[in-house]
Amino acid sequence: MGLTHVYPVVSRRAAGVSIGINLNTNNACNWACVYCQVPNLTRGSAPDLDLELLRAELDFMLSEATRGRFMETYVAEGLRRLNDVAFSGNGEPTSARLFEEAVNLAIAALEVHGLKGKIKLVVITNGSFALQPDVQRAFHAMASANGEVWFKVDRGRTEDIQRINNIHLSPGLILKRLAAAASACPTWVQTCMVTWDGAPPSGQEVDAYLDLLRQALVRQIPLRGVLLYSLARPSHQPEAARIAALPLPWLEALGARIEALGLAVKVTP
Ligand code: SF4
Repeated sequence: MGLTHVYPVVSRRAAGVSIGINLNTNNACNWACVYCQVPNLTRGSAPDLDLELLRAELDFMLSEATRGRFMETYVAEGLRRLNDVAFSGNGEPTSARLFEEAVNLAIAALEVHGLKGKIKLVVITNGSFALQPDVQRAFHAMASANGEVWFKVDRGRTEDIQRINNIHLSPGLILKRLAAAASACPTWVQTCMVTWDGAPPSGQEVDAYLDLLRQALVRQIPLRGVLLYSLARPSHQPEAARIAALPLPWLEALGARIEALGLAVKVTP
């Protein structure tokens, strides 16, 4: 079966399998992060969504994963565990006009396969649409189904956000959107740190980022913590040659500063 929206990802790090849902089959995102791994990324929104196709593909993949045929054929022993279903495609998933319907469909599919509440339902988002009522409803629905929002916050100053995410965005608006997401569904901040022209982020850049997290805590935004990582796979963007992964000790040092603020941190090199 050739699949349009649904794909399996085997992760040694997570010791299991994630089922990804790609709503952005046109490789379109409203941001253009320098580290983005989407090839031929264009600016825009997710295209119209065929819900019946998504339902059929998800049903097929969940059947394969739970009955073991897929696992036994393609997944090494020790990794045959279904970890989560994640909206994590080639663009911003919440830009899809039918994102709420897609979330409800995924929750129903998990229920049919006896997985609702047993595995996670994740959305990886840049948070741009978190204030929209339909996205809010979708996040609330996810909260009732062991859901998590992974909310991208890479930098704390407008000029750094412009350079890294290629979007003009104020820290104040990020906090507003973050508060909206976290009040609806358990939310992790997800942060990617990279070198730029061979240098790690400057002290001021890091301080501004930490200040944004501090402000989130002052505003009592109920964050689960921070998922901190660097470049795992090569970027497909024009800035690819200017960026590189940061060493684990650098990430761990930043992680310690985040923990000192009172937030849990998971560091992935
Ligand atoms: S928000 Fe995600 S999909 Fe969009 S450009 Fe950034 S990394 Fe790529």
